[in-house]
Amino acid sequence: MQIHQIGGGPFDSNIYLIIDEVIALIDAGTGQNFEEVKRNLGKFNLKPSDIELIINTHCHYDHVGGDRDFVRASGCEVAIHELEAGLLRKGDQVITLAQGPGKTFEPLEVARELHRGDWVKLGELTLEVLHTPGHTRGSISLYEPEQKILFSGDTLFCDGVGRVDLPTGDGEALARSLRELAKLEAERLYPGHGPLAERDARRHVLDALEFIG
Ligand SMILES: [Zn+2]
Ligand SMILES: [Zn+2]
Repeated sequence: MQIHQIGGGPFDSNIYLIIDEVIALIDAGTGQNFEEVKRNLGKFNLKPSDIELIINTHCHYDHVGGDRDFVRASGCEVAIHELEAGLLRKGDQVITLAQGPGKTFEPLEVARELHRGDWVKLGELTLEVLHTPGHTRGSISLYEPEQKILFSGDTLFCDGVGRVDLPTGDGEALARSLRELAKLEAERLYPGHGPLAERDARRHVLDALEFIG
């Protein structure tokens, strides 16, 4: 099993490529830097048509905008929390933050709605779905307890937390979500933006809790 960050164009979320029995992405960026993402995939001898599953941590355009390119290339499945599946299916522009010059978010098929406590089996890696609202209502984090890996979306970054002033954001809910994450023994932190942490993920959770008071 391997995990690589293959995103990084302007305004894109981090895009995590998981090479396991199932080849999956966690988030797909805006789609505006698809050529660069394709080149990054190529470094691992993979093409967009090899992707089998995209798990979106939440509905924001900088995470889901790129889904469509991969669905077109591979017919891969898209998974997102049940509270945000409908936004993708109807092509919401407001809550996804897709409104803006040169951006639109067209309706997208969601094959799998995720719920708190679901497990997503990729092979060696099996991810537990944690519902961590606050940044958005249907934000999820994904946790792998054996290797203590936490994918935190925009709930938690290495140097802070996601905004709570956007549609469906909720500061109290974010604090509750962070307290849930603090119960994990997480070591490796793979957030939705910015640098990754190879150890001490839990310290970042505690720092964030302290920061938001
Ligand atoms: Zn984001
Ligand atoms: Zn976001």
